[in-house]
Amino acid sequence: MTALKERLAQLIATAGPISVSDYMASCLFDPDAGYYTTREPFGVAGDFTTAPEISQMFGELVAVWAYSAWAAMDRPMPMTLAEIGPGRGTLMADMLRTLDRLDTGFVTRARIALIEASPRLAALQNERLASGRGRPTWFSEIGALPATPLVIVGNELFDALPVRQFVRTASGWRERVVGLDNDGALRFMAGAAGIDPALLPHGAMDAPEGAIFETAPAREALMAGISARIVRDGGAALFIDYGHLRPGLGDTLQAVRKHAYDDALANPGEADLTSHVDFFALARIAQAHGLEVRTTTQGAFLVGLGLLERAGALGAAADEATRERLRGEVERLAGPEAMGDLFKVLCVTRKGTVLPPFAAQG
Ligand code: SAH
Repeated sequence: MTALKERLAQLIATAGPISVSDYMASCLFDPDAGYYTTREPFGVAGDFTTAPEISQMFGELVAVWAYSAWAAMDRPMPMTLAEIGPGRGTLMADMLRTLDRLDTGFVTRARIALIEASPRLAALQNERLASGRGRPTWFSEIGALPATPLVIVGNELFDALPVRQFVRTASGWRERVVGLDNDGALRFMAGAAGIDPALLPHGAMDAPEGAIFETAPAREALMAGISARIVRDGGAALFIDYGHLRPGLGDTLQAVRKHAYDDALANPGEADLTSHVDFFALARIAQAHGLEVRTTTQGAFLVGLGLLERAGALGAAADEATRERLRGEVERLAGPEAMGDLFKVLCVTRKGTVLPPFAAQG
């Protein structure tokens, strides 16, 4: 049993079941035993591989997007180029290298900001980015960023923020909680208290017993904070994650450990715990702030920004083995069977600004 599992079981035995959201927050960010605070999640030796870790082309194309966002604002300086949830710092490293080529001086004139919740990962990012041009500063939250126009990106950030779950029971909808079964093992169950029907989607009252609905107050609060910043100071935001463009019912909480699915209650703190991002809910928040929102799939986004051309350029002077590797990377990032369709992109700008690869009438 993991140390965190024992601690959670004791807590539940003493104080009663905890919400799925509190369970997820403990598993990911417990200061002593949380997944992101203590473990090395990324890469072959870790638990999962993210797009920037698959290919440098991902960060290069996101850099092209970021540069267009700045150009569309008439190139203000000072400005802040930020990433939230930078993991190992690979995306920002690839972006800074590309931006430095696009426009010498940009990365030293812009403020480079990284927002990271895990001190351990922040140290890793520092190591990774220390030698490059464009020196980042670390911030604990969006509210602490300098008050300048802001271009902000985040890859696989929202899926790591906790969700609440509700479950339909014979006596109505209840918060889904983590409690203990008769043997003292962690188990999902329906909580005692009813919930405000306003939180439920249209048609929820007709859902069958056992149906599950998710909402993510932490994601929505972050989206609201970023939207308010863009309204106040100008800027643009780009978020990439796996999830859905339309709202719906369903349990999407999943644990991943060593590149395989794990039982979400089996190894608290030792498995990554995520849930699919409801892009519809995030888009609605940005729109409520009067902002322009575009969504698409990761595949369409990357191909629209020139993924195939970039792979061709990198491959032109390379040997056949390298070209084969590049073809594989394109397939993993953009192929419909791989990340291309499952991963979605949300682009937020001020009203009237539409950035590549989104067509003006799109
Ligand atoms: N973007 C990286 C890492 C994704 S994993 C990549 O694509 O490889 C999620 C990252 O978000 C981790 O760095 C995690 O510590 C960070 N994170 C999670 N919640 C956060 C929050 N509320 N604020 C800032 N960073 C957060």
